[in-house]
Amino acid sequence: MTFPFFGTARDEASRRVAFSGNRIDRQSEARSDDAAERALENPKARLLLFTEGRLLLRVEGENAFYPYFARNEAATFAPDLKQAVLLGHQDETPVLAVLAMADPEALPASVKAIDYRSIYMQGLLEPTALGALAQGAALLAWHAAHRFCGRCGNETTMHDGGYKRHCPTCRRDHFPRTDPVVIMLAIRGEQCLLGRSPHFAPGMISCLAGFVEPGETVEAAVRRETREESDIEIGAVAYHASQPWPFPYSLMIGCYGEAESDTITIDENELEECRWFSRAEVNLMLNSTHPDGYRVPPDGAIANTLIRDWVLAPETL
Ligand SMILES: [Zn+2]
Repeated sequence: MTFPFFGTARDEASRRVAFSGNRIDRQSEARSDDAAERALENPKARLLLFTEGRLLLRVEGENAFYPYFARNEAATFAPDLKQAVLLGHQDETPVLAVLAMADPEALPASVKAIDYRSIYMQGLLEPTALGALAQGAALLAWHAAHRFCGRCGNETTMHDGGYKRHCPTCRRDHFPRTDPVVIMLAIRGEQCLLGRSPHFAPGMISCLAGFVEPGETVEAAVRRETREESDIEIGAVAYHASQPWPFPYSLMIGCYGEAESDTITIDENELEECRWFSRAEVNLMLNSTHPDGYRVPPDGAIANTLIRDWVLAPETL
Protein backbone atom coordinates (compact mmCIF):
# COMPACT_ATOMS: atom_id res chain seq x y z
CA MET A 1 0.00 0.00 0.00
CA THR A 2 1.32 3.43 -0.91
CA PHE A 3 -0.08 6.65 0.49
CA PRO A 4 0.28 9.85 -1.54
CA PHE A 5 0.66 11.99 1.56
CA PHE A 6 4.14 13.39 0.99
CA GLY A 7 2.85 16.84 0.06
CA THR A 8 4.29 20.20 1.00
CA ALA A 9 4.67 21.26 4.62
CA ARG A 10 1.82 23.69 4.08
CA ASP A 11 -0.52 20.81 3.27
CA GLU A 12 0.57 18.42 6.04
CA ALA A 13 -2.33 16.70 7.75
CA SER A 14 -1.24 17.82 11.24
CA ARG A 15 -2.16 21.37 10.26
CA ARG A 16 -5.81 20.36 10.04
CA VAL A 17 -6.18 19.16 13.65
CA ALA A 18 -7.18 21.21 16.66
CA PHE A 19 -4.41 22.50 18.99
CA SER A 20 -1.84 22.42 16.16
CA GLY A 21 -1.79 26.09 15.16
CA ASN A 22 0.71 27.31 17.76
CA ARG A 23 2.88 30.15 16.32
CA ILE A 24 4.74 30.96 19.53
CA ASP A 25 8.50 31.27 19.11
CA ARG A 26 9.61 29.20 22.11
CA GLN A 27 13.23 30.47 22.07
CA SER A 28 14.10 27.30 23.93
CA GLU A 29 17.85 27.95 23.79
CA ALA A 30 17.52 31.36 25.40
CA ARG A 31 15.52 30.49 28.51
CA SER A 32 17.17 32.04 31.54
CA ASP A 33 16.31 31.29 35.14
CA ASP A 34 14.36 34.55 35.46
CA ALA A 35 12.85 34.48 31.94
CA ALA A 36 9.23 34.45 33.16
CA GLU A 37 9.87 37.19 35.74
CA ARG A 38 11.44 39.45 33.12
CA ALA A 39 8.67 38.73 30.60
CA LEU A 40 6.07 39.78 33.19
CA GLU A 41 7.77 43.17 33.44
CA ASN A 42 7.13 43.78 29.75
CA PRO A 43 3.98 45.97 29.60
CA LYS A 44 2.98 44.24 26.36
CA ALA A 45 3.05 40.76 27.97
CA ARG A 46 -0.06 38.69 27.30
CA LEU A 47 -1.27 36.25 29.93
CA LEU A 48 -3.36 33.13 29.44
CA LEU A 49 -5.20 32.44 32.71
CA PHE A 50 -5.94 28.81 33.55
CA THR A 51 -8.07 27.47 36.38
CA GLU A 52 -9.08 23.87 37.13
CA GLY A 53 -9.00 22.57 33.55
CA ARG A 54 -10.54 25.73 32.18
CA LEU A 55 -9.26 28.83 30.44
CA LEU A 56 -10.55 32.31 31.27
CA LEU A 57 -11.96 33.99 28.17
CA ARG A 58 -13.00 37.61 27.75
CA VAL A 59 -16.44 37.88 26.20
CA GLU A 60 -16.09 40.18 23.20
CA GLY A 61 -19.54 39.65 21.72
CA GLU A 62 -21.92 36.83 20.90
CA ASN A 63 -19.70 33.76 20.46
CA ALA A 64 -16.60 35.99 20.25
CA PHE A 65 -13.92 35.42 22.85
CA TYR A 66 -10.41 36.71 23.49
CA PRO A 67 -8.06 34.69 25.71
CA TYR A 68 -5.27 37.15 26.54
CA PHE A 69 -5.05 39.47 29.56
CA ALA A 70 -2.54 42.22 30.35
CA ARG A 71 -0.83 41.82 33.72
CA ASN A 72 -2.92 44.58 35.36
CA GLU A 73 -6.14 43.08 33.96
CA ALA A 74 -5.16 39.65 35.30
CA ALA A 75 -4.77 40.96 38.86
CA THR A 76 -8.54 40.62 39.47
CA PHE A 77 -8.28 36.84 39.11
CA ALA A 78 -5.64 36.14 41.79
CA PRO A 79 -2.92 34.98 39.38
CA ASP A 80 -0.05 32.90 40.76
CA LEU A 81 2.62 35.02 39.05
CA LYS A 82 5.50 33.35 40.92
CA GLN A 83 4.68 30.13 39.06
CA ALA A 84 4.04 31.79 35.67
CA VAL A 85 5.34 29.84 32.69
CA LEU A 86 6.82 31.70 29.71
CA LEU A 87 5.48 29.97 26.59
CA GLY A 88 7.63 32.17 24.34
CA HIS A 89 7.06 35.18 22.09
CA GLN A 90 4.47 35.81 19.44
CA ASP A 91 4.66 38.94 17.29
CA GLU A 92 7.54 40.03 19.58
CA THR A 93 5.23 39.91 22.59
CA PRO A 94 5.82 37.53 25.50
CA VAL A 95 3.02 35.03 26.12
CA LEU A 96 2.71 33.46 29.58
CA ALA A 97 0.55 30.74 31.09
CA VAL A 98 -0.59 31.54 34.61
CA LEU A 99 -2.68 29.68 37.14
CA ALA A 100 -5.59 31.87 38.29
CA MET A 101 -6.89 31.15 41.76
CA ALA A 102 -10.22 32.96 41.21
CA ASP A 103 -13.43 31.03 41.79
CA PRO A 104 -14.71 30.19 38.28
CA GLU A 105 -18.29 30.49 39.56
CA ALA A 106 -17.73 34.07 40.80
CA LEU A 107 -16.40 35.79 37.69
CA PRO A 108 -17.63 39.09 36.23
CA ALA A 109 -20.09 38.76 33.32
CA SER A 110 -17.37 39.88 30.90
CA VAL A 111 -15.22 36.79 31.62
CA LYS A 112 -16.05 33.11 31.35
CA ALA A 113 -14.07 30.04 32.49
CA ILE A 114 -14.56 27.40 29.79
CA ASP A 115 -13.10 23.89 29.76
CA TYR A 116 -10.53 23.11 27.06
CA ARG A 117 -12.65 20.49 25.33
CA SER A 118 -15.61 22.84 24.89
CA ILE A 119 -13.31 25.60 23.63
CA TYR A 120 -12.09 23.35 20.83
CA MET A 121 -15.38 21.55 20.13
CA GLN A 122 -17.26 24.84 19.85
CA GLY A 123 -14.48 26.60 17.92
CA LEU A 124 -14.28 29.46 20.43
CA LEU A 125 -10.66 30.39 19.70
CA GLU A 126 -8.66 30.92 16.54
CA PRO A 127 -6.04 28.24 15.78
CA THR A 128 -2.97 30.08 17.10
CA ALA A 129 -4.60 30.77 20.47
CA LEU A 130 -5.86 27.18 20.65
CA GLY A 131 -2.27 26.03 20.09
CA ALA A 132 -1.06 28.31 22.88
CA LEU A 133 -3.77 26.87 25.14
CA ALA A 134 -2.43 23.35 24.47
CA GLN A 135 1.12 24.39 25.33
CA GLY A 136 0.13 26.27 28.49
CA ALA A 137 -2.37 23.71 29.76
CA ALA A 138 0.13 20.85 29.34
CA LEU A 139 2.93 22.73 31.12
CA LEU A 140 0.76 23.85 34.04
CA ALA A 141 -0.62 20.32 34.45
CA TRP A 142 2.93 18.95 34.50
CA HIS A 143 4.00 21.47 37.17
CA ALA A 144 0.94 20.66 39.29
CA ALA A 145 1.79 16.94 39.17
CA HIS A 146 5.54 17.31 39.76
CA ARG A 147 5.88 19.58 42.75
CA PHE A 148 7.91 16.92 44.52
CA CYS A 149 11.06 15.17 43.37
CA GLY A 150 10.42 11.72 41.94
CA ARG A 151 13.84 10.63 43.19
CA CYS A 152 14.01 11.84 46.80
CA GLY A 153 10.51 13.16 47.50
CA ASN A 154 11.52 16.69 48.49
CA GLU A 155 9.91 19.82 47.10
CA THR A 156 11.20 21.03 43.72
CA THR A 157 11.43 24.59 42.35
CA MET A 158 10.57 26.02 38.92
CA HIS A 159 13.35 27.27 36.61
CA ASP A 160 14.02 28.26 33.00
CA GLY A 161 10.74 30.12 32.60
CA GLY A 162 8.83 26.99 33.59
CA TYR A 163 10.67 24.48 31.40
CA LYS A 164 12.53 22.82 34.24
CA ARG A 165 12.04 21.88 37.88
CA HIS A 166 15.04 21.41 40.11
CA CYS A 167 15.36 19.47 43.33
CA PRO A 168 17.62 21.45 45.70
CA THR A 169 18.00 18.39 47.95
CA CYS A 170 19.35 15.78 45.52
CA ARG A 171 20.17 18.25 42.71
CA ARG A 172 18.17 16.32 40.12
CA ASP A 173 16.64 18.34 37.25
CA HIS A 174 13.19 17.39 35.98
CA PHE A 175 11.87 18.33 32.54
CA PRO A 176 8.30 18.60 31.20
CA ARG A 177 7.02 15.38 29.73
CA THR A 178 4.83 14.56 26.77
CA ASP A 179 3.08 11.18 26.72
CA PRO A 180 2.87 9.57 23.26
CA VAL A 181 -0.40 7.92 22.28
CA VAL A 182 -0.93 6.00 19.05
CA ILE A 183 -4.27 6.41 17.30
CA MET A 184 -4.78 4.31 14.22
CA LEU A 185 -7.14 3.48 11.44
CA ALA A 186 -6.78 -0.17 10.43
CA ILE A 187 -7.67 -0.69 6.80
CA ARG A 188 -8.57 -3.92 5.00
CA GLY A 189 -9.33 -3.33 1.33
CA GLU A 190 -12.34 -1.06 1.15
CA GLN A 191 -13.10 -1.30 4.86
CA CYS A 192 -11.77 0.32 8.00
CA LEU A 193 -11.95 -0.72 11.63
CA LEU A 194 -13.75 1.52 14.12
CA GLY A 195 -14.59 0.97 17.77
CA ARG A 196 -16.76 2.44 20.48
CA SER A 197 -15.71 2.99 24.06
CA PRO A 198 -18.51 2.90 26.66
CA HIS A 199 -17.85 6.54 27.64
CA PHE A 200 -18.38 7.91 24.09
CA ALA A 201 -21.42 10.05 23.29
CA PRO A 202 -24.34 8.10 21.75
CA GLY A 203 -23.63 7.01 18.16
CA MET A 204 -19.96 8.05 18.25
CA ILE A 205 -17.45 5.55 16.91
CA SER A 206 -13.75 6.18 16.28
CA CYS A 207 -10.23 4.92 15.62
CA LEU A 208 -8.63 2.63 18.19
CA ALA A 209 -5.94 4.25 20.38
CA GLY A 210 -3.62 3.62 23.30
CA PHE A 211 -0.47 4.78 25.07
CA VAL A 212 2.93 3.89 23.67
CA GLU A 213 4.70 1.79 26.29
CA PRO A 214 8.36 2.14 27.35
CA GLY A 215 10.72 0.41 24.94
CA GLU A 216 8.18 0.32 22.13
CA THR A 217 8.24 1.79 18.62
CA VAL A 218 5.23 3.63 17.23
CA GLU A 219 4.67 0.75 14.79
CA ALA A 220 4.83 -1.87 17.54
CA ALA A 221 2.37 0.12 19.65
CA VAL A 222 -0.06 0.35 16.70
CA ARG A 223 0.11 -3.43 16.23
CA ARG A 224 -0.15 -4.25 19.94
CA GLU A 225 -3.03 -1.90 20.73
CA THR A 226 -5.00 -3.05 17.67
CA ARG A 227 -4.43 -6.70 18.56
CA GLU A 228 -5.34 -6.18 22.23
CA GLU A 229 -8.55 -4.29 21.52
CA SER A 230 -9.83 -6.16 18.45
CA ASP A 231 -7.58 -9.21 17.86
CA ILE A 232 -6.88 -7.84 14.36
CA GLU A 233 -3.30 -8.32 13.12
CA ILE A 234 -1.60 -5.28 11.56
CA GLY A 235 1.20 -5.51 8.99
CA ALA A 236 2.43 -2.26 7.43
CA VAL A 237 2.05 0.93 9.43
CA ALA A 238 2.18 4.46 7.95
CA TYR A 239 2.42 7.69 9.97
CA HIS A 240 -0.05 10.36 8.88
CA ALA A 241 -0.46 13.20 11.41
CA SER A 242 0.05 14.18 15.03
CA GLN A 243 -1.87 16.31 17.51
CA PRO A 244 -0.92 17.99 20.79
CA TRP A 245 -3.57 16.79 23.23
CA PRO A 246 -3.61 18.70 26.56
CA PHE A 247 -5.48 16.05 28.59
CA PRO A 248 -3.16 16.38 30.39
CA TYR A 249 0.00 16.30 28.22
CA SER A 250 -0.16 13.79 25.38
CA LEU A 251 0.93 13.74 21.78
CA MET A 252 -1.49 11.81 19.59
CA ILE A 253 0.38 10.01 16.79
CA GLY A 254 -2.03 9.19 13.97
CA CYS A 255 -1.26 6.20 11.75
CA TYR A 256 -2.79 3.90 9.17
CA GLY A 257 -2.35 0.17 9.65
CA GLU A 258 -2.77 -2.51 7.00
CA ALA A 259 -4.93 -5.23 8.55
CA GLU A 260 -3.84 -8.79 7.82
CA SER A 261 -6.81 -10.55 9.42
CA ASP A 262 -10.51 -9.77 9.60
CA THR A 263 -12.13 -11.70 12.45
CA ILE A 264 -12.69 -9.32 15.37
CA THR A 265 -12.66 -10.32 19.03
CA ILE A 266 -13.50 -7.31 21.17
CA ASP A 267 -11.65 -6.51 24.38
CA GLU A 268 -14.74 -5.86 26.45
CA ASN A 269 -12.77 -3.97 29.08
CA GLU A 270 -11.98 -1.29 26.49
CA LEU A 271 -14.73 -1.38 23.88
CA GLU A 272 -18.43 -2.09 23.72
CA GLU A 273 -18.45 -2.31 19.92
CA CYS A 274 -15.87 -2.77 17.19
CA ARG A 275 -16.51 -3.63 13.55
CA TRP A 276 -15.57 -3.06 9.94
CA PHE A 277 -17.17 -0.17 8.07
CA SER A 278 -17.19 0.27 4.30
CA ARG A 279 -15.91 3.46 2.70
CA ALA A 280 -19.48 4.30 1.60
CA GLU A 281 -20.77 3.89 5.16
CA VAL A 282 -18.01 6.07 6.59
CA ASN A 283 -18.86 8.72 4.04
CA LEU A 284 -22.41 8.78 5.43
CA MET A 285 -21.00 9.02 8.96
CA LEU A 286 -18.87 12.03 8.00
CA ASN A 287 -22.05 13.69 6.72
CA SER A 288 -24.04 12.58 9.82
CA THR A 289 -26.47 10.68 7.58
CA HIS A 290 -25.69 7.07 8.54
CA PRO A 291 -29.05 5.20 8.81
CA ASP A 292 -28.05 3.61 12.14
CA GLY A 293 -27.00 6.95 13.64
CA TYR A 294 -23.24 6.26 13.68
CA ARG A 295 -21.02 9.30 13.55
CA VAL A 296 -17.30 9.97 13.76
CA PRO A 297 -15.47 12.46 16.04
CA PRO A 298 -15.84 16.13 15.06
CA ASP A 299 -13.61 18.22 12.80
CA GLY A 300 -10.38 19.01 14.59
CA ALA A 301 -10.09 15.59 16.21
CA ILE A 302 -7.19 13.63 14.74
CA ALA A 303 -9.49 10.61 14.38
CA ASN A 304 -11.66 12.69 12.06
CA THR A 305 -8.59 13.59 9.97
CA LEU A 306 -7.48 9.95 9.71
CA ILE A 307 -10.97 8.78 8.75
CA ARG A 308 -11.70 11.62 6.34
CA ASP A 309 -8.36 11.39 4.55
CA TRP A 310 -8.84 7.64 4.05
CA VAL A 311 -12.36 8.14 2.68
CA LEU A 312 -11.14 10.85 0.30
CA ALA A 313 -8.04 8.91 -0.83
CA PRO A 314 -8.22 7.45 -4.33
CA GLU A 315 -9.78 3.98 -4.28
CA THR A 316 -6.88 2.59 -6.26
CA LEU A 317 -4.56 2.74 -3.22
ZN1 LIG B 1 15.37 15.16 44.83
